[in-house]
Amino acid sequence: MLKIQRAERLTKLPPYLFAEIDKMKAEAKARGVDIINLGIGDPDQPTPPHIIRALNRAAENPANHQYPSYEGLLEFRQAVAQWYQNRFRVHLDPEKEVLSLIGSKEGIGHIPLAFVNPGDIVLVPDPGYPVYQAGTVLAGGIPYTMPLLEENGFLPDLERIPEDIRQRAKLMYLNSPNNPTSAVAPLEYFKKVVDFARRYNILVCHDAPYSEMYYDGNPPPSFMEAPGAKEVGVEFHSLSKTFNMTGWRIGFVVGHPEILAGLGAVKTNLDSGIFQAIQYAGIEALTGSQECVAQMRKIYQERRDVLIDGLQQLGLKVNKPQATFYVWVSVPKGFTSTGFTAHLLKNAGIVTTPGNGFGRYGEGYIRMTITVGVDRLKEAVERMKSVL
Ligand SMILES: *Cc1c(COP(=O)(O)O)cnc(C)c1O
Repeated sequence: MLKIQRAERLTKLPPYLFAEIDKMKAEAKARGVDIINLGIGDPDQPTPPHIIRALNRAAENPANHQYPSYEGLLEFRQAVAQWYQNRFRVHLDPEKEVLSLIGSKEGIGHIPLAFVNPGDIVLVPDPGYPVYQAGTVLAGGIPYTMPLLEENGFLPDLERIPEDIRQRAKLMYLNSPNNPTSAVAPLEYFKKVVDFARRYNILVCHDAPYSEMYYDGNPPPSFMEAPGAKEVGVEFHSLSKTFNMTGWRIGFVVGHPEILAGLGAVKTNLDSGIFQAIQYAGIEALTGSQECVAQMRKIYQERRDVLIDGLQQLGLKVNKPQATFYVWVSVPKGFTSTGFTAHLLKNAGIVTTPGNGFGRYGEGYIRMTITVGVDRLKEAVERMKSVL
């Protein structure tokens, strides 16, 4: 018999905290419970038809059936640069300052392999998207937690990072608009980050997949709008959330050319780029009418208002999100995050995500996602009323 022993790096990954919840979900389903799933960060709306048509057209062309170039079609990168110019007034050189990704998760997870040596520190927000920590650990780096606390508007407090950690830190992950807290960093904050990164020679990796999912007509800034940002970092983006394209696997990263070249050197050795037909669909998404994005915002804003009103009427402590499709709710007294999630699932058939699944500073919260219709959200609030 072969003895299968996993590499040590895999044993160092953070534990999977949702096993118990997954089991309860399966049990409830088996019992025939009408489950309201507010657990997953995946848009429920379809990809807009003009984008699908662009895919269909491109898929018919045999030139697109072969290996794509690893850095992405120049046309796609030009579309990205154009989109950045229109949306953020930021100029990017499509040849050197844009790199396509097979979904932004891929780039976020791979970038430490290009820059982090074993034992190097990586600054990671907590609670946070688990890939920041996983990518760090797989590269042999040591994650250093930056707590996201309500008293700081859920932004990392740079002042609290000790001097020796600043000296040893190689890379920093940031994420605004934020998953799971829904916090938005103002441009002033990004300016402080640029100063900090310059002073300590830290590469900034800003993750911005929710930049277009904003409310009340209030678009969040890009990290790249901060003067000097391009000299200290990069920004990850995705078509997944903006255009309801999570299954398509297309994203991009922009910013410092040498940082992109380092990530590119990892990628040429591991992947072979994005199916070109999908890149043509991505060009259509970025350069075509943005009416579908405005429509998306309208749908989520209405849902947000319904859920927030309902939760507040139940006496739950929650901030109204200015962006993202996440609602970060303080758990009522007497509950832990996992306990409250389990309670809602068992007694109300509502799936939520316990905050501690995003890191230990997520304890005391649950995350709800507004990826179901208004009627279902109202139903969820009604059910919660009867179990609180
Ligand atoms: C959804 C998400 C992503 C990435 O999505 P891709 O589909 O891989 O582009 C990245 N970061 C955060 C915080 C997300 O929530």
